[in-house]
Amino acid sequence: MADKQAAEELERMAEVAATCTACGLSATRTNVVFGDGSARAQVMFIGEGPGRNEDLQGVPFVGAAGQLLNQLLSEIGLERSDAYIANVVKCRPPGNRDPRPDEIAACKGYLADQIRLIDPPVVMTLGNFATKLLLKEERGITRLRGRAYPWWNRIVIPTFHPAAALRGGASVLESMREDFALTRAVLDGRSEPQPEPGAGRPVEQLELFG
Ligand code: SF4
Repeated sequence: MADKQAAEELERMAEVAATCTACGLSATRTNVVFGDGSARAQVMFIGEGPGRNEDLQGVPFVGAAGQLLNQLLSEIGLERSDAYIANVVKCRPPGNRDPRPDEIAACKGYLADQIRLIDPPVVMTLGNFATKLLLKEERGITRLRGRAYPWWNRIVIPTFHPAAALRGGASVLESMREDFALTRAVLDGRSEPQPEPGAGRPVEQLELFG
């Protein structure tokens, strides 16, 4: 699919999602935060859900966490325009609570469509929710990060959510830097994914996620 065609298709998906009422989060949102970035991104980031600023502006990762993400990208020679950023749920959970299983189930089809259309070589999952959803893992992000997982002709690299680095200090940030460096190495062909039994699902099963 040509770049322009892919961008138009993403736009069309976003228009459909903008009026979505498939879960209860529709009642309290200001804007649906569908996603932001290039339809031909080298790296796709998947976070948890929009926060207050994102809900108000309709754009993911616009606050301090977004600035940190931009900084980490620039440290590996990428701009935000080289990436695509989305969340597991597209509407803000009230008070920034965790998204509930029924909300994730209602929303995951949008994420599946985004991954399938953008087809990025590397997906970086930010935090527990996105990582567990894609890799079908019970282990937490602290155990799963630091590795590149083969995932249906692409690579999943889990790392902490930038908000955790803002709260957690230097050691979390240093781990994120290692994970971003791993992304750079995979993009450059300097690092191979490390297969692990049970981790990863074919993209065809994304509609179900398990
Ligand atoms: Fe629809 Fe997802 Fe928003 Fe729920 S969170 S209303 S499924 S767009």
